[in-house]
Amino acid sequence: MSFLFQVPNPVPSRQTSDVSPNVANLPSQIKDLEHEVERLRLLSQAMWELLREKLGVQDADLEKKAQEIDLRDGIPDEKISRVPLRCPRCGRISSSKHWKCLYCGLEFEKPVMG
Ligand SMILES: [Zn+2]
Repeated sequence: MSFLFQVPNPVPSRQTSDVSPNVANLPSQIKDLEHEVERLRLLSQAMWELLREKLGVQDADLEKKAQEIDLRDGIPDEKISRVPLRCPRCGRISSSKHWKCLYCGLEFEKPVMG
């Protein structure tokens, strides 16, 4: 049995700090993001249809897994919030996105599904 310690002040991710403050670039940045989102949407759909065909999993399985992942940060907001977590074994910081230590491989405790 292990305990997790949430790091109080998460460091902003590289993506947000890289955004240029130049307002003139915003329309093109938004366009790039929209393209990226559409591409990810397409790939998600393709992956899901492949899994459904090849493994016989159902939409309900996908929904259940999405809920489980959503609740890993303790907040049911339909998003993956990346919370930095300190590994109780090696003391290094990993993201809650992975739900295990990226350095020593220790699996963190998952919250009980709601
Ligand atoms: Zn570790």
